[in-house]
Amino acid sequence: MSIDQAREILKHRFGYDDFRMNQEAVIEAVLDKKDCVVLMPTGGGKSLCYQIPALMLDGLTVVISPLIALMKDQVDALRANGVDAAFLNSTQTAAEQVPIFRDIRSGKLKLLYVAPERLSQGGDEFLDFLSQIDISLFAVDEAHCISSWGHDFRPEYLRLATLKRVFPNIPVIALTATADKLVRKDIFERLNIEHAGLFISSFNRPNIFYAVEPKRNSYSQLLDYLEKRKDESGIIYCLSRASVDSLAADLRDEGFSALAYHAGLDKATREKHQESFLKDETKIVVATIAFGMGIDKSNVRFVVHMDLPKNVESYYQETGRAGRDGLASDALLFFSWADVLKLKKFAEVEGNREQTEIMLKKLDQMGQFGDLRSCRRKFLLKYFSEDLEENCGNCDNCTTVFEKFDGTIIAQKALSAVYRTGQRFGLAYLVDFLRGSESMKIRDEHKNLKTYGVGADISKDHWFDYFKDLIAQGFLVQNDGQFPTIALTETSMDVLAGKTPVELIKLKIKESKRKMLAPDVEHPHIPELFDALRQLRTVFARNENVPPYVVFSDATLVEMATYLPQSDWDMRKISGVGDLKFDKYGADFLNEIRNYCSRNGLATRINLRAPKRERKQRTKRDATGRDTYRTTFDLFQDGMSVDEIAKERGLGLSTVEGHLARFVGIGEIALEQLVPVDKIENIRKAIIEHGAEGMIGPVKSALGDDYSYGEIRAVRAAIEATAGEKSKGAF
Ligand code: ADP
Ligand code: ZN
Repeated sequence: MSIDQAREILKHRFGYDDFRMNQEAVIEAVLDKKDCVVLMPTGGGKSLCYQIPALMLDGLTVVISPLIALMKDQVDALRANGVDAAFLNSTQTAAEQVPIFRDIRSGKLKLLYVAPERLSQGGDEFLDFLSQIDISLFAVDEAHCISSWGHDFRPEYLRLATLKRVFPNIPVIALTATADKLVRKDIFERLNIEHAGLFISSFNRPNIFYAVEPKRNSYSQLLDYLEKRKDESGIIYCLSRASVDSLAADLRDEGFSALAYHAGLDKATREKHQESFLKDETKIVVATIAFGMGIDKSNVRFVVHMDLPKNVESYYQETGRAGRDGLASDALLFFSWADVLKLKKFAEVEGNREQTEIMLKKLDQMGQFGDLRSCRRKFLLKYFSEDLEENCGNCDNCTTVFEKFDGTIIAQKALSAVYRTGQRFGLAYLVDFLRGSESMKIRDEHKNLKTYGVGADISKDHWFDYFKDLIAQGFLVQNDGQFPTIALTETSMDVLAGKTPVELIKLKIKESKRKMLAPDVEHPHIPELFDALRQLRTVFARNENVPPYVVFSDATLVEMATYLPQSDWDMRKISGVGDLKFDKYGADFLNEIRNYCSRNGLATRINLRAPKRERKQRTKRDATGRDTYRTTFDLFQDGMSVDEIAKERGLGLSTVEGHLARFVGIGEIALEQLVPVDKIENIRKAIIEHGAEGMIGPVKSALGDDYSYGEIRAVRAAIEATAGEKSKGAF
C-alpha cells in the first residue's frame, strides 16, 4: 500500500489533485498502523486523513463524532463519491439500523460514524459487537471534547480510553481544530496513545478577510454589507436570544432570506432552520453561539459578529466557519469598548479569583484585537503561538490607509480630564465626565471642575475610540486589572502645554476590499455562468435530498465557470470532480457550460488551469503514453469484462463503462457489446422521454437501479452518433 495509491484515490474518488497541509504525512502514518494526533484548522481537510486510509485498509473504519447533525452530511458526502458509509445514532429507528448492521457484518461497509455514547451502550455490548468485526481504524473526530480544558468537554468521550485497551493493535487517529497544549496533552493521555505521532498544521486561514468596524449604526452598516452579498450564505452572531429574534425579523422585513437560531427555540424549529440553511434555501442564519458546532457547510461566505465574542478562541472558531471550501470569505466584527465593559460583568467566575483573572485577560485581548491598527492575521496567529513574517495583505488594516486629522484639542480635553480627576478613574467614567453626564456616578466635586462636560459634542463611542488611539500612541496608559484606570505618561504634559500636536485617526467606514471569489486571480470566473451552475446543482440536490455542496462545492463550480471545460477530458481536470460525480453529473454540467459558451462565443480556457503537479502515471500500461480511454478499450478488445477491467486498472465500474461509451460514440465498439439487448430499447425510450438537453440524471431516476450510468451513457453516445450521421446526411 503506497502513498501513490492514496493519491489515486484522492483524484478518482474525491477529484482533487494534491494533498493539503499534512494530509499526505498523516495518511502514510495511518497506513503504517501508527496512532496519530492531527491538529488542523477548520476546513483544512481533516476528514480525508481517515477516509482515504479507510478505503485502502481491509475492514471497517469506525469514526467517533459528537455531532449527530454532521454525521448525516458526512455520510451523504461520502456516498456522493461512491463510498460505502453509514452512521448509527439516536435519530434512527431500530428498523433503519438493521440493514446497517447487516452491511457491517458482511464487510460491505467501509466507514461507520457513531456517537461516543454508542460505545457504552448496553454495557459493553457494542464493543463486543465490534470485536467480532474486522476493524481497520478508529478515528476520533473533535478529539478536544475529551479534555476538560477544552471549550467543549463531553464526559462521554472519557469512555474512549477503552478503545486502545480492547483493540491494542488497531490504530487510532484523533483529530481536532483546537491547538491548546493542555488539551493536546489530554488527548494523548486519555486516549491511551502516548506514542502517537503529532501532526500540526498552520492555523492560518488565508482565504478569510478579517475586518472590524466601529459598532455604531451597526444595523445600517450591516444592511449595506448584506446588500452586496445577496446571493451568498452567511452567519450573523448576536449575544442574546432577543437580539437574534429581532435582527432576523428586521432582515426579513428588508427582504433578506434570514432565519433565527438559538437554544430558546424548540428542537424542531432549530432543525428546520439549520436544514434550510444547509440546503441554501435560506441564505442567512442569525444566531447565538449555540449555532455552528455541527455546521459543515462549506460555502459560508461571511460570518458577522454584531457583538463581541468573549475571547479570541471563540472568535477564531466562529469566524473559521467561513470559507471551508477555500474560496475568499469574510469575517466582520462590529466592535466597541462598551461591549468589553458589558462582558466584564459576566466574566466573573463566582468564588474563583484566578479563573476570573484569566477570563478578564482573555476579554482584554479580544478588545485589543478590536482596536488593532496593524495586521489582524498576525495578531491572531501570534495568539495561537504562530509567527507570520509578513503582513497578510488580506485584512482591513493591511488594505486600509488610515485618514488622520489634527486632534490636538480633543487630546488636550481627554488628557486634562485624566489629570483633573486625579488619574484614578477608568475609561467609562472619564467619557461620562467629559460628556457632562448627569449620572449619580459622577462625583459632586468633579461636577465643579472646568473640564466637566467640555466633550459633550462628541459621542460616547467616538470618545472611546479617541482614548484608545491616545493610549496606542502613548499619550496615556491604561493599567491592568479588573478595574483598569487611566493615567498620564511622560509625553502628556507636552500635549497639555500645546508643545506636541496630536494626530488622531478619522473614524470612517472602511472599505472592505475582499479578494475576488476566484481560484485564479488572473482569470476571474464568469458570475452569470456560476449562477446557472448553482441552479443546476440545486436541481440535483433536491432530487437526491442532500445539501447542494454535496453535489459539487462552490469551489468546484467556480473552477468550471473559470476554465469552461468543453469535453469529458476537460471536465476531469476540474478539482472536486471525482469518478462517480463525473459519471452522475459531468454530462449535465458540461451541457450547461457548452450551451453558455456557444451562446456567448466562448472557447474553453482549460489550458489556463495550471497543473498543480505532474500527475503520476496511473498504471504501467499508461506509462507507454497512451491515454486512459485507449487502455480500457484495448483491455476490452482483449476480451476482458467491464468488471475485470475495473479490477485490473483499479478504477470504478462506472468509469470503465464511461470510457467504453466513448468508443460506442465513435463506432469502434458495438452498443450491443456493452449493453444487454433487452435493455437498449428501454434506455433509448427513457432518454427520449426524460433526457432533455442530454441530461442523464433524470433518465437514471426513471430507469431505476437495474440500469447503470455507464449503460445509459453508452446508449446516449450511440444515439448522438447516429444523430450526427443524420445531420451530416442532411447537408
Ligand atoms: P475539516 O474537517 O478539517 O474542517 P473537511 O475535511 O470538512 O475539513 O474539508 C473541508 C473541505 O476541503 C471539504 O470540502 C473537502 O472536500 C475539501 N478538501 C479536503 N482535502 C482537500 C484537498 N486535498 N484538495 C482540495 N480540497 C480538499
Ligand atoms: Zn493583515
